[in-house]
Parts: sequence; C-alpha cells; structure tokens
Amino acid sequence: MRFLPVFLDLQAGPVLLMGAGDLARAKLRLLAAAGASIRWYSTDGRHDVSGIEASDVARIKLAEGDPLTADLQGVIAILCAGAGDIGVAMSARAKAVGLPVNVMDDLSHSTFIFPAIVDRGDVVVAVGTGGTSPVVARRVRERIEAVLPARIGDLAGFIGRWRKQMHSRIPEFPLRRRFWERVVDGPIGALVLAGRGDEAEAALQDIADPSAFAGAQATRQAEGRVTLVGAGPGDPDLLTIKALRALQDADIVFYDELVSPEVLDRVRRDASRVPVGRRVGKPGIGQDAINRLMIEAARSGQRAVRLKGGDAFVFGRGGEEVEVLRQAGVAYSVVPGITAGLGAAAQFEVPLTFRHEALRITFLTAHKAKDAETVDWSILTDQKMTVVVYMGMTAAPSVRAGLLAAGRSPQTPVGVFARVTRPDSQAAVGTLEELPALVDKIDGGPAILIIGDVVAHSAPWRRRNLAQVISKILEAAE
Ligand code: SAH
Repeated sequence: MRFLPVFLDLQAGPVLLMGAGDLARAKLRLLAAAGASIRWYSTDGRHDVSGIEASDVARIKLAEGDPLTADLQGVIAILCAGAGDIGVAMSARAKAVGLPVNVMDDLSHSTFIFPAIVDRGDVVVAVGTGGTSPVVARRVRERIEAVLPARIGDLAGFIGRWRKQMHSRIPEFPLRRRFWERVVDGPIGALVLAGRGDEAEAALQDIADPSAFAGAQATRQAEGRVTLVGAGPGDPDLLTIKALRALQDADIVFYDELVSPEVLDRVRRDASRVPVGRRVGKPGIGQDAINRLMIEAARSGQRAVRLKGGDAFVFGRGGEEVEVLRQAGVAYSVVPGITAGLGAAAQFEVPLTFRHEALRITFLTAHKAKDAETVDWSILTDQKMTVVVYMGMTAAPSVRAGLLAAGRSPQTPVGVFARVTRPDSQAAVGTLEELPALVDKIDGGPAILIIGDVVAHSAPWRRRNLAQVISKILEAAE
C-alpha cells in the first residue's frame, strides 16, 4: 500500500484548486458538494460553474493573480485538474511547504490521490487502487453501493446522537460495544434503516436497563423479527438488494410454493427453510399455522423471513400477516418484490400503459370460475384500461365471458404469460375471443393474463404477426 486512506477535515480551511475545463469542474462539483470551501484559480480565465448546485457555488471563491505566488496560509490541500504545466510547478511549491497536493492523472507529482467514494452521509467509503486503475475502483464502489443499505448513514448519525448518553449509562466498554452491536443488528437498527427513525428513537428510549439489553439472555428475544420479502416472479436477479440482504441475514425462512428454487438458493446457507405453501394436490399447512410459526420464530429470537412469490401485498395475503404480527407485538418489516404482472410486462415487452392507448391498469384475481362470477366486470369496460388477471387460468372462459358482456371487443389483444422470468417461461397471445384456447396452449402455471390493446405491442404479438404474414405468403405460393 503506497497511499493510506485518511479523511480530510474540510472545515479546517480552504482547498486550493488550479485548473480549467471539465476536469476542474468535476473536482469543483465534488469538493463543493462535500462542503469544502474552495479557492479556484482558473487557468484559462473562465469561470464556468454550470452543473454545480447554486447553494454550493457560494463556497467557491474565484482567485486572481499568479497561483505560484499565492498565499498558502491556512490552505489544507492543493489540487490541479486540467491545469497543464502549472500543475507540476504547483506540486513543487506544495511539497516545499508540506501541503498535500494532487495533480490529476500525474502520480509522480501527487502526494495524495482521490478515491472512488460511496457517500451515505456520516458513512463514507473510500476505494483506492493506488492510482493504477480508476475503472477498477469504480467497479468496486458499485459493488459496495449495492450491498450498503441506503440509510446506513442515518444509522451512524442515530448512534452518534445517543453515544454520549449511553457512555455514561454503560461505563464498561465491552458491554457498551455489545449494546451497540445489538442495536445495529436488531429491530432498532432495522427501524432506522427502514426510515422509521422516530420509532427507533422511541424504542431506544424505552430500554430501561441498557446493561441488561446488552447482556446475554434476555436480548436473544429482542432480536427476533419477521421480514416479509417479495421474492419476485422467479429470476433471482430480480430480487431487490434489500430482499437479498434479508435472505442473507435470515435464521429461518418460511416460503411459498411460488418461490423459485433459484431464489431459495440465495438464502443464507445455515438458515432453516420451511415450505409452508400449498403444494399441487396437497393442502398446505394453512394460514393460522403459518402465523403461529412466524410468531414463535420471532419470539424465540430468530430473524425470520416470510418469503412470498411476487410481492407480498399483491394477492399475497401479506396484509393479513402484517396485521397478525402487529397484534402479536412482533417486530416486522416489509420488502417489496416484482409482482408477476410487472415481470411478465418486462419480459414480454407489454407496456402496461401507453400514451393515448392505455391510461389505467387493473390488477384483479379470478381464482376459480366462481370468483370470476363475483367480479364486477362492468367497471372494466374502458377500452383504455389494461386488465391484469392473477390466478386466471382455470377461470379463463368466465374472464372472457365477463369482459365480452362488459362490452370489450372480442378482438381485444390478450396474452397468457406463464412461469415468467424463469428459464421455461412461455407466452401465448391472441384475441379475447381466443382466450380459453390460448390458456390450453400453456404447459402449466403459474400464469398471468394481460388483456388490452397494449398486448399488441408485445414481442410475442410481433412474432405472431410475422408468422401470419409468412403463412399468407406460403398459402399464396401454393
Ligand atoms: N403475490 C404474487 C401473486 C400471488 S397469486 C405476485 O405479486 O406476483 C398467484 C398468481 O400469481 C398465479 O396464479 C399467477 O397468476 C401469478 N404468478 C405468480 N408467479 C408467476 C410467474 N412466475 N409467472 C406468471 N404468473 C405468475
């Protein structure tokens, strides 16, 4: 390691920037956004600050005269970006007085270099490659960005505000460290990361005996929680970063039948996996039993994940489960997932809305023909409404009948999209009239129906058109 990462206090004094053009502007933007006060010697006489926040521009002082004789009193660092030969001369000057200097893209004249930065408020990560490869540094930064919770800075700030007070309440250092570990890893930390800072403050306030909280036994219980996680339609790369983190953090996972094996593969190796969904032909354990299992797991101090296909709040009974958890006083949070309708739309290029063509979307379920009869189809007459039907395979004939009765044209484009985002996905498109026949072409669920003019924009529809043209040509040739 040649360059040691250290953090410079920007409040300690101004930074001197030499240079012009885009390079200088990029550094101005970075420094100004970070809160630095900047003395800028523009080497081409122009002072273009476009692209910099107005509130930040106030911290930029335009300096005149020769930077090589400028007063360096109080300056904390010198930076040359797009400064040409002045960079080398300035570097010599800085070194002579012992000031840190960076000449952009010129390692031999720099005594410090800029890392790639992940900036989450109080939490800042600096990534360096010793100046060898900024591209590699950026890629590393992207990886870190992806795994760091967005509100990690809030968490640091939260602890910062309480630290002093806790210091006096828990004088022993090891216990204090344990206390904060438990806060960070437990429900209070989860609340902060979920943006529920007020509740976190209240929860911390409620800890009557911090030493006991930090101790061994009672706390196991306090850590228990349930995270409802949307697993998406199948492709594990469609998990949100938050979902992935919950899976990696879980002690136990209760999963539904719709959750794909590839998603389950992302669960922490040591976690227990409990299938609680209905299996084909088998009834499943029932909602009450699922509720009981979740509550028991959380109460025994486990980090439980309730993993559901798509999104928990879209025909997923997530609402009921949250209610039960709340009543039981169990800490919980909800992580959204890509619902099957959106997965189908993205994969098969069905724009669910389209300017002038489709202005509304309805998500509905028609589980059985009987359910379909209870749907009020009359509200679905609007031709500019895209209708997405969950659990609609067996009810397809009733769905067709309902929509036709509501006045939808038999020629309305429809699509049946099965096992979307999975390796064996399948689509059948045609007209509303043909809907039951389209369902018959599908080799098994789960499948979602999308009904509306927008289906004519889809990739399978374009293929269908092409196939029709080709068959017409072939017919004509015969
Ligand atoms: N919560 C889920 C929906 C559960 S209801 C979500 O947000 O997606 C179950 C229905 O969802 C299935 O009958 C089917 O219509 C649809 N579905 C779920 N996964 C699917 C997939 N991979 N492909 C197509 N449809 C799917």
